[in-house]
Amino acid sequence: MDKFKEECGVFGVTCADNAAYVAYQGTYALQHRGQESAGISTLSQGVMYSHKNMGLVSQVFKDFDFNLLPGTVAISHNRYSTTGTSNISNAQPLCMETKQGIMSIAHNGNIINASLLRDILQKKGAIFQTSSDSEVIVHLLSMSKHMNFNKALKEALMKLQGAFSIVTLYENKLIAARDPYGFRPFVLGKMPNGGFCVASETCAFDLIGAEYLRDIAPGEIITISGKKLHSAYLPKAPHYAKCIFEYIYFSRPDSIIFGEKCDKVRREMGRQLAREDDLQDADIVISVPDSSNTAALGYAEESTFKFEIGLIRNHYVGRTFIKPKQEDRELSVRLKFNPVKGVIRGKKIVLIEDSIVRGTTLKGLIKFMRQYGAREIHVRVASPVVKNSCFFGIDLSNKKELIGAKKSVKQIAKHIGADSLKYLTLKGMLDIAPGSHKNYCTGCFDSKYPIAAPKKYSKNRLTNKLNITSSPIS
Ligand code: AMP
Repeated sequence: MDKFKEECGVFGVTCADNAAYVAYQGTYALQHRGQESAGISTLSQGVMYSHKNMGLVSQVFKDFDFNLLPGTVAISHNRYSTTGTSNISNAQPLCMETKQGIMSIAHNGNIINASLLRDILQKKGAIFQTSSDSEVIVHLLSMSKHMNFNKALKEALMKLQGAFSIVTLYENKLIAARDPYGFRPFVLGKMPNGGFCVASETCAFDLIGAEYLRDIAPGEIITISGKKLHSAYLPKAPHYAKCIFEYIYFSRPDSIIFGEKCDKVRREMGRQLAREDDLQDADIVISVPDSSNTAALGYAEESTFKFEIGLIRNHYVGRTFIKPKQEDRELSVRLKFNPVKGVIRGKKIVLIEDSIVRGTTLKGLIKFMRQYGAREIHVRVASPVVKNSCFFGIDLSNKKELIGAKKSVKQIAKHIGADSLKYLTLKGMLDIAPGSHKNYCTGCFDSKYPIAAPKKYSKNRLTNKLNITSSPIS
């Protein structure tokens, strides 16, 4: 599994008496974007303070004394687990002293030329301490001829190819930057006291009482000093390439993503799926909870088949994705979901899933739903067939593991044991996505990547020779 995909959550706040605690809350709300590690850094009187560790936000900051992180500006991060290995060296924010001064940085996205840049930097004498692509940014910055931080940062960011939503802390300033394609979501908000905050998703603002102002524009670098805000811009990309998978699966439905309510778009994807469907009758519509709930509601509204809660998810089981072996994955599907027998027995069911990646979830689900007496199971997927890996920050694993890359829809239906299977069409999905078709990255469906996919990506990636583990958190 690729270790270097940074599917994460970032947050930053200024002018807060208890900045670290506000960042803790913001990061807590972004927990779904990353469960491997969490961290916060603050700056006070020229000293950088940071606390990070492996685990969930609640574990990393359990009984934590936030007075240990003084300062009115803070940034924070949750990192997504793309591997079973705990590796503290990759936990963010990364804090360091450069010739421009002390700084910390946290990143969501995936820099596709990171290996190349790393090789060049190492030849120039750079010493890397992590296997994360984010560290490349700091080295580029410190090797810049500019002593002015913002100039050096801009120069560094211009050398990157790929996806980045970045927060940095420098001289009591919060600097937030988004790549010119705008792959990952990034929003700007206002705190009740007039300070500003930035986050991967607006659900972080709701918890801290902040008001959503707008998206950080693709290519925008916002520097916030106290209550003052200044924008600079990276050179424009030929078009935007917002990740459509944020709407399908990754973001929380209560967030505003790319300027539109995620709930609204996801529900509409379900409606569109129903409009494209020719299934004449069914007893009930059920979703694979929780990620498919909203799309299933949309499908039920449009089709007029009755929505029922037919599967219950155990929230204390980790995501199926992070299990390294296929057998473990199948077991965790069974651990994760249980059918409501009385609801499914004897029924003709439309089962809504937001996406099929390897096919493991549905194969397991259908098997035991039949054991509990489901009569017919018609699977409807609220996204097109995932046929390609993602190089820009969503962990969709290697192409050879993607069932949609290897099998036809008919073969997939057979493999998962469904009575029928239909996917949302690419056109149908793009028609209901807000704004122009051209504004989205759909590479995982149609291999139309906005930036050429790196050749031999898996071989050419950063080497992970630094495997520094931390002691487990109780
Ligand atoms: P699979 O069982 O491999 O077909 O995976 C499909 C399930 O994983 C669906 O229930 C999705 O909600 C979920 N999923 C889709 N994309 C991702 C992702 N990038 N990371 C983790 N889970 C995902």
